[in-house]
Amino acid sequence: MPLRPIRIYGDPVLRLKAREIREFDDSLHALVADLFETMHAYQGVGLAANQVGVAQRVFVVDVPLEGGAHERFAVVNPVLSERKGKQIGEEGCLSMPGITEDVQRALSVRLRGFDEQGQAIDRVVEGFLARAVQHESDHLDGVLFSDRLSPLKKQFLRRELDALARGELPDGYHPGSGGGAAGEGAI
Ligand SMILES: [Zn+2]
Repeated sequence: MPLRPIRIYGDPVLRLKAREIREFDDSLHALVADLFETMHAYQGVGLAANQVGVAQRVFVVDVPLEGGAHERFAVVNPVLSERKGKQIGEEGCLSMPGITEDVQRALSVRLRGFDEQGQAIDRVVEGFLARAVQHESDHLDGVLFSDRLSPLKKQFLRRELDALARGELPDGYHPGSGGGAAGEGAI
């Protein structure tokens, strides 16, 4: 299974509303395998299909839990509802290497959709997993975490975002580098 290059801020595919997936076929399974492989190579904890240039509604997460366990799964055609509470915490994005900011998200959310085999998913997620799920679902609607910042914070980031859009990546940026910047824990 190949690594797929991660699309960076400024790439129009990141602004597309991704299409519903109708077939749970081999091409979907290959895409999901590639998403996991690419996410792990970049040491991220979440990755949406349009971040590798495929405008289809599927994302993967691999969020570490206390005690060394992981929440690791794919979600096809995700639907979020019943957002409750709020959390403010640092977020990074594999499509915006080098940039992290505090972002407000719901503390818990009901996640419905399907796994890559077409089995229904219906569960409530909370904490960082809820943050990751909200971030990835945003990706599938063409929304980036920078869109969710205050106008002032956005203004502060403008120069860095413009640099990314021009193709200027942070020093040391490459898959598996820990991100230098991309990096660890980005979604
Ligand atoms: Zn992201």
